[in-house]
Amino acid sequence: MTYKEKTIEALKQLGGHAYLSDIYEAFENLNDNEILPKSYKAIIRATLEHNSSDSFVFNGKEDLFYSVDGIGNGHWGLRTIDDEYKYELTQEDDEFSEGKLQLKKHLTKERNPKLISRAKKIFAEKHNNQLYCEICGFNFNEKYASLGDGFIEAHHIKPVSQMEEDEKTKISDLVMVCSNCHSMIHRHKPWLSKKEDLKKILR
Ligand SMILES: [Zn+2]
Ligand SMILES: [Zn+2]
Repeated sequence: MTYKEKTIEALKQLGGHAYLSDIYEAFENLNDNEILPKSYKAIIRATLEHNSSDSFVFNGKEDLFYSVDGIGNGHWGLRTIDDEYKYELTQEDDEFSEGKLQLKKHLTKERNPKLISRAKKIFAEKHNNQLYCEICGFNFNEKYASLGDGFIEAHHIKPVSQMEEDEKTKISDLVMVCSNCHSMIHRHKPWLSKKEDLKKILR
């Protein structure tokens, strides 16, 4: 396993988020026979930062980790685990774990960093440089000032079950949504697969 894989595994074992001291310990336990280099703690910290868009040294590839209460406080979380937890599965979904697999695939599509940043760029260009929720209109920058700059989530409209095996995600299949609307769409049964239907979740 690579440092990245072991760090992910350590965080999973720790319930999705943990302080560095606990991450180091869980990491050590994953290393039965290997001798760790003296600098392994620094490598773990670098691994977390390089793979987190919360950090200034993010490598722009996979956004795997997030800083729970600010960079420098040593409290790190695993994004995917929280997503699955956040978009809770209904009982029917969970049957035979098919629902779980579908949700994982869906979230992977929504977390393709290249595609998301292109979709955000295109949306902002069309809308006077603003990013806002296409369902309720929420604008993170308006509410949270510079902290909300450039923040919006992307929801993939097509149910993964209706997609061909290696069908590529299209930008037109992504909808810009705020975190609240995103959670509510995932909660809605049946799945809303048309953009024009999404607003129906609002009162
Ligand atoms: Zn919204
Ligand atoms: Zn979604």
